[in-house]
Amino acid sequence: VTADGPHGDRFARSRLIEGWDQDRLAAATVVIAGVGALGNEAAKNLVLAGVGRLILCDPDTVAGSNLSRTVLFTPDDVGRPKTEAAAAALRRLAPGARIDPRPADLASAVGLGELADADLVLGCLDRLRSRMQLLGRCSLVDAPLVDGGTRPWGGEVRLRLSADEPCYACALTPHQRGADDLPWSCAEPAEGDTGPAPAAIGSTALIASWITIAALRTMLGSPPAYRLLAVDGLTGRTAPVDLGRDPSCPHHHPIEGPVERTGVGRDDTVGALLAALPEGAEPLLWSGFPIPVRCRNCGAYDEHPGDRELTNGAVRPVGPQSVCPRCATLLRQRFSQRLRDADQGRSLSALGVAPQEILSVRMPEGGYQWHRLT
Ligand SMILES: [Zn+2]
Ligand SMILES: [Zn+2]
Repeated sequence: VTADGPHGDRFARSRLIEGWDQDRLAAATVVIAGVGALGNEAAKNLVLAGVGRLILCDPDTVAGSNLSRTVLFTPDDVGRPKTEAAAAALRRLAPGARIDPRPADLASAVGLGELADADLVLGCLDRLRSRMQLLGRCSLVDAPLVDGGTRPWGGEVRLRLSADEPCYACALTPHQRGADDLPWSCAEPAEGDTGPAPAAIGSTALIASWITIAALRTMLGSPPAYRLLAVDGLTGRTAPVDLGRDPSCPHHHPIEGPVERTGVGRDDTVGALLAALPEGAEPLLWSGFPIPVRCRNCGAYDEHPGDRELTNGAVRPVGPQSVCPRCATLLRQRFSQRLRDADQGRSLSALGVAPQEILSVRMPEGGYQWHRLT
């Protein structure tokens, strides 16, 4: 971000704040998961503060009902991917900022390597399942995460900064935490996940302000003291909530050991990845991809169940059922995480693999290696 434009140093006032470091913010990359109401507001705040690069991740397109709560969208944006509409508006607000739109589901849009390299991850999601998936992926690579959630008249802010600290999933039941254990397309709604909760615009702006402060302070090297903050616009009470560490919470075990670089990217084929790995190695994806199923009625194979990549780069969800291409019998979709079950000629991206993903690879002699895609 260029500080000095034709109108002078746009950050002159910010620099007066004790502990502010404009260069540090300009060099930072923030991943924003969710570009709805909260993500709009938070992204706007971060580029105005001079954060150098934002990776925006959201699979949805702008709907008319978004326009009452989204500062970055205009009526002309209805139908466009949210990430692209937001990127255009953010570039107008802060011409020097690098905005990288990723119109896909989190796990397909942003690889673990990118999460590991980011200075901060910001969660602006409105569903428990998405929030659990984001927490799980950040925990795997120990990426600092600031997560905001809104309620009709208030909301919550949650910080996950280190694997040693209690996290907000420690306070959930195993069933709630398990919302992401299944491939997301066939997971049932988790207990307590009744869909996006509506929030008044003031709540969105309020929680976005809180997560902006938490994000900036974390990037400037002095994060806030709390890890869970409850904000209630009706009582006026805003207070930290103590979290206890649940020993059975799975989000405290980052991947260990060296991460190998395969030299293979997501646009390469499954076969190219297998050829780059040691003989007999078994690469695994983090979530299942659909595999060919034989029709029990006519015996035909559905060879390409769920070709997931759409023309705009978005990834289409694959349902638990597919239809026989020959006789139209309803087939139960099967999923696998073993890349050896996939067609070797398919690209990794068509299977939903993100750029710079880190894959776990089971070795023939036992044990695992970590391999990062380029
Ligand atoms: Zn935990
Ligand atoms: Zn059939």
